[in-house]
Amino acid sequence: MHKHHSALGVATALRPVQPVTLVRPHAATRAARFFSEKFPGRSLYAVKANPSPDLLLTLWEGGITHYDVASIAEVRLVARTLPEATLCFMHPVKAEEAIAEAYFTHGVRTFSLDSHEELDKIVRATKGATDLTLCVRIRVSSDHSKLSLASKFGVDLADAASLLMATRQVADALGICFHVGSQAMSPQAYSDALARVRAAIVSASVTVDVIDVGGGFPSAYPGMTPPPLEQYFRVIHEAFESLPVSYSAELWCEPGRALSAEYASVLVRVERRRGDELYINDGAYGALFDAAHIGWRFPVALLREPESHAKDVGFSFYGPTCDDMDHMVGPFDLPADTRVGDFIEIGMLGAYGSAMRTAFNGFTNGETVIVDDEPMVSLYTTVAEPATVAGRVIKL
Ligand SMILES: *Cc1c(COP(=O)(O)O)cnc(C)c1O
Repeated sequence: MHKHHSALGVATALRPVQPVTLVRPHAATRAARFFSEKFPGRSLYAVKANPSPDLLLTLWEGGITHYDVASIAEVRLVARTLPEATLCFMHPVKAEEAIAEAYFTHGVRTFSLDSHEELDKIVRATKGATDLTLCVRIRVSSDHSKLSLASKFGVDLADAASLLMATRQVADALGICFHVGSQAMSPQAYSDALARVRAAIVSASVTVDVIDVGGGFPSAYPGMTPPPLEQYFRVIHEAFESLPVSYSAELWCEPGRALSAEYASVLVRVERRRGDELYINDGAYGALFDAAHIGWRFPVALLREPESHAKDVGFSFYGPTCDDMDHMVGPFDLPADTRVGDFIEIGMLGAYGSAMRTAFNGFTNGETVIVDDEPMVSLYTTVAEPATVAGRVIKL
């Protein structure tokens, strides 16, 4: 992978025709260290947010030793990339064959479930193994999150007791897990969820060895500046300490977005301008799935030398495919004189960006290069202000 000093440097020196993924390993290292040093328990990286092997290696070096995997392909990928990592198979609905391969071939011992059927599957697939850590996923509210995960998975409180008791019979270690939804904008999401966990433990009166608060830790995007992560950690720690769990119980979390968002951005070129609409060379079928489908706003910066001093205007983007849905409404604030041939950096795409890319209409991913400059925004620097880098004035 080529290395460059900055995003602006890539734009001006290479003038790339295809979109370029800019990666910042130092930003991922900083996030990994932050979680491994400050979260009051163990942090598992949720691989689906960005399964790039380079990122996995970077997070490993930053102190992340456990990985939340959701499919057999993710199990194989992480096992191959990080042979010493501990894998936890946290998708509550798995193929029996996937469970068997994970257990017997890749040494996976931790699985999640939210039904008696899945528990039976795990028992059958592992041939009645007695060394399992089994985490029962309970349904919690997504009220504080930008992306709901409240409907698909999780056992209701009313049915949790019987599932917890049945799982306790089989498990070497019993866990309870949940997911408050992605981009949780308030730590209260976790205290509310942990109140539900408490109710489940009390009603089942089982000994619980692991409390896994899942993902949902936020990153920063335009119009979404979350409270500091330390506040989340404090609220979680306090709620965990007061739970009726075994003396040696462990606290886990599964950040995806928070560990990967700052790692990557995408450099695109403007191919056409129509009023305040810019036709760019990446879009809904590329790294901008969330921008198109759920109207997510990402920070943007015009990379031009000399810098434009025109006033900002809110633009929307069209992607390169022939599909009307390939439209990112934004608004994305860029100088009013943005024009054909300009390069734009779209930031904070390390999470759920390139991971969502398809080859639809022949527009596949371009090159990836490493840059040394700062991501557009960082939760992990001591500077409270958003980053301002030469040639890129970033506004949230
Ligand atoms: C997606 C997912 C995560 C990561 O969620 P983020 O909001 O990206 O932190 C963690 N755990 C499970 C089970 C998931 O499905």
